[in-house]
Parts: sequence; structure tokens; C-alpha cells
Amino acid sequence: MVTAKFIQQLGAIVGAEDVISHPEDLLVYEYDGSVDRSMPGAVVFPTCTEEVSRVLALAHREGVPVVGRGSGTGLSGGAIAPEGGIQIAFTKMNHILEVDTENRTATIEPGVVNLDLDNYVRKFGMRYAPDPSSQKACSLGGNIAENAGGPHCLAYGTTTNHVLGMEVVLEDGTVMNLGGPTRETPGYDLRGVFVGSEGTFGVATKIMVRLLPLPEMVKTFLGIFPDIDTACTAVSAIIGHGIVPAALEMIDALSIKAVQSVTDAGYPADAGAVLLVELEGLKEEVEDVTKEVESALWDTGARDVRIAEDPADREKLWVGRKTAFGAFGTIAPNYYLVDGVVPRTRLAQVMRKVSEVSEKYRITIANVFHAGDGNLHPCMLFDEREPGVSERAAQAAQELMEYCVGVGGTLSGEHGIGLEKKEYMPLVFNEADLDQMRKVRDAFAPSNRMNPGKIFPDGVSYHAGSHRAAPGMYI
Ligand SMILES: Cc1cc2nc3c(=O)[nH]c(=O)nc-3n(C[C@H](O)[C@H](O)[C@H](O)COP(=O)(O)OP(=O)(O)OC[C@H]3O[C@@H](n4cnc5c(N)ncnc54)[C@H](O)[C@@H]3O)c2cc1C
Repeated sequence: MVTAKFIQQLGAIVGAEDVISHPEDLLVYEYDGSVDRSMPGAVVFPTCTEEVSRVLALAHREGVPVVGRGSGTGLSGGAIAPEGGIQIAFTKMNHILEVDTENRTATIEPGVVNLDLDNYVRKFGMRYAPDPSSQKACSLGGNIAENAGGPHCLAYGTTTNHVLGMEVVLEDGTVMNLGGPTRETPGYDLRGVFVGSEGTFGVATKIMVRLLPLPEMVKTFLGIFPDIDTACTAVSAIIGHGIVPAALEMIDALSIKAVQSVTDAGYPADAGAVLLVELEGLKEEVEDVTKEVESALWDTGARDVRIAEDPADREKLWVGRKTAFGAFGTIAPNYYLVDGVVPRTRLAQVMRKVSEVSEKYRITIANVFHAGDGNLHPCMLFDEREPGVSERAAQAAQELMEYCVGVGGTLSGEHGIGLEKKEYMPLVFNEADLDQMRKVRDAFAPSNRMNPGKIFPDGVSYHAGSHRAAPGMYI
């Protein structure tokens, strides 16, 4: 329970100016990028590990649940405050502490924005590979919690493949270290289980990541297709040729229109779908594979294939891809994005299902997704002021989730389970699986005060002042 006295005690740790508790100040911390909402009792802005540790120790003594907050771009309700709980926002712990060019590592605080790290290390001829489409805003702390992916994770792997070590603080304020600068560490891989734990094990206060050298050559193709079905066939054809592009992204007709209405990305307005394919590596390698990619695109029915002429051209194509979700605001004020994964060979079939579901529930659905990973993002666009539409969106999401699992896929490729998908976990895990996961969580957070109410089905909303609209959705 967050009392006036508790808020004073928080202020004594971080400074009164770094605690907010007035309802109007808390409004922007009520939600993340998903459909869930709940007001925290207070938000604290620590500036160092010691302050984080003291805040957690205090909350533990007082029985107050805590959730870490990065930039609030999460799409599964992960950073939404549990009832009666507080948020620790890492906005002020946003320093790049060290870049070790010889060992190709960087050590950073959790509030560093993904793209800021990448831009910073580029001057040393290196990069940080995981690049969520939200990379202009999302934090590395949030990326770790969700094991974030991104267009270039097809070739380089998701966040877990790039995190070497972490300093973390547990629910009682204990500070510990997981992993380290070497690729292999003896004992259990606690670093590995922490990544993707959605803030339920503790909070990361320092992170050491692996950097990669910049590639010698990058080539970006735009495959223009008459419809999404043929574009899906091209995805299987490219991968079937044994090619692993650095990125392989799909943008459907509705998304193309939305993007082109806010920026000229060079996507033809009358295309049924476009595929962005990027190759990277040594010059000879890229040039060799170029012909194969081109023939795979033409052979599967591309209407046209364009290759970016220069870095500015390439940037333009990517700006389109990364602007898409913002551009959906021109279609409707609300969105609900479903993050399912299916085997790549089932993409065309599942996209047909998406369009059926769109008709059945009378919901507009736009699709921009990591096609190479089979990671779908059907994005339902609606206006929650229309009676019944939120419920229809929730039902549509449920039907899509069940379908993805039914064709051999799973519930999330990168956005996590959070609040949004916890009730669907039994679709992919049995009770013994879930029990074992709870035991792992209990080893880190025995009192379950770190981000409670997430991941595991419990039929309970932790949302003060909010109500459950339908399975998997809160408004
Ligand atoms: C337009 C758009 C595009 C997106 N594209 C992608 C994409 O391509 N790939 C992808 O993976 N995701 C994508 N996302 C989702 C989101 O950006 C990611 O999940 C991101 O990792 C969240 O980071 P954040 O800093 O915003 O975290 P938040 O939303 O603030 O928090 C997310 C989770 O991280 C936990 N957390 C935050 N900081 C810490 C910490 N220091 N220690 C422990 N736990 C912590 C929170 O408790 C919460 O559970 C997209 C979102 C949007 C809005």
C-alpha cells in the first residue's frame, strides 16, 4: 500500500524531486504501448544502483509490489503497475558507461535508448545488432526484459544473443551479477534465464552487451507484389534457397497506404504487399547472393524488384517500415497488435485467416511483420469509443492466437506475455511446465513482488480502477 509516509521514505532515498505521486503526473505512467491501463501509486526515478537497491529493500519491507519501467513502449502490458504498486523508471539511468573497442563490448545503464547506443558505437566502426522497430524510443532494460527482436534479428539473433552480463537488483534489494565479459561462464546460465523474464525476477541496473563490426557491404531490395499471398511464397522461396538475409520484412497494402500518407518511403501505392530484403556481409558474398534473391523474388511473382541505390535510398525504405505503426494513427485512434509466430511455410495460410478474422469481427487489420522469422503482427485498428468494438478486437485476437498455436506456432515472437497473453499460456504449456517456470521465478523473487500478475494465468486483473473487457484485453 502506497501511503504518504512511504512516498516520503522514497523521497529520502532518491530525493523528493525524483518521486511523483500526484494523479495528474502519474497519468502518463498509466499505460504502455498495449491496451492495458492502471495507475501506479508512485513513480521513482533513481540515478544509481544503490538507490534502486534501497527503494526495493524499502518496498519489500512494506509489502509494496514494484515494476521496472523503461520507455513504456512494451506491447504486452509488461510495465503496467500492479495494484497498489510503484514503478521504478530508469529514465535517469541512461549513461553509456564504457565502450571496449578491442573486446567489442559496451557497458551501459538500463535506461539507454537502443538507437542511441547503436549510433554512439558506429563511430567506432561497430553496431548493436538487435533493432526493434521502436528503437528510437525503447530502452535496453526493456529490451532485456522482453528479449526484444527486430528486423535484423533474423540473421543475428534476439537480445539474448547479445547480452553478456548484467548487474541486477532483486526484490529485497540484493545486488548480484549474472554472466560476465566472456562468452561462456561456469555454473547455471542465470543471465540466460533473466533475459526475457519480463521484469518478474528483478531489475537490471547495468548491462554489458556484445558489439558487432559494421558489415563491408549492405544491399536492400524492395520486392513489389500483387498480393500478400505471393509475397508470402517469396519468403519461403528465399529461405528455401538457403539464404539467411539480415532482414526480411513484410508490409501489406493497407500499411503501404498508411506509410505513404505520412512519408514517402518509395513504396508503390497500388502494391498488394512489399517485401524488404536486406543482405549484409563481405562484398563478394553479398554480390553472389544478390542474384539468388532477385531470382527468388521474380520467380515467385514479384511485379517489380528495386535495389536501393545508396545509403539515403536504403534509409528511406527503412523509415517506411519503422514508421508504419505510427502511421496507423491516420486510420484509427486505437490499435491492438497481436504478436504470433508461425512456421514460415504457413505464412500464406495464416495471412488468409487474418483476413477472414478481419471480416468476421468487422475490424480493420493492418500487417507489418518480421516475415523471415514467421513473426506476425496483425494490428487491429479501431476506435474504442465505438460500442462493442474493443470486445470484438479481443475476440479476434484470441481466435488468431489459437490459430497460430494450432498450425504449430506460438504466442509471442518478441513482445512478451505480460498481462495481454497470460490467459493463453495453457495453449502452449501444461500445468507442470508452468509450475516449473513459477519455481524459477520464486528462486529470484520468492515473495512475488517483482511485477506480479504477469505471464501466468490467474484470471485476475491487477488494475486499480480498470475493468476487464474481454479475455486478454483491458480497457
Ligand atoms: C511502434 C512499436 C514497434 C515495436 N517494434 C518492436 C520490434 O520490432 N521488436 C520488439 O521486440 N519489440 C517491439 N516493440 C515492443 C517494445 O518496444 C519492446 O518490447 C521493448 O523492448 C520495450 O522496451 P521499453 O524500454 O519501452 O520497456 P517498457 O515497456 O517500459 O517495459 C517492458 C518490460 O520491461 C521491464 N523492464 C523495463 N526496464 C527494466 C529493467 N531495467 N530491468 C528489468 N526489467 C525491466 C518492464 O517491467 C516491463 O515488463 C515495438 C513497440 C512499438 C510501440
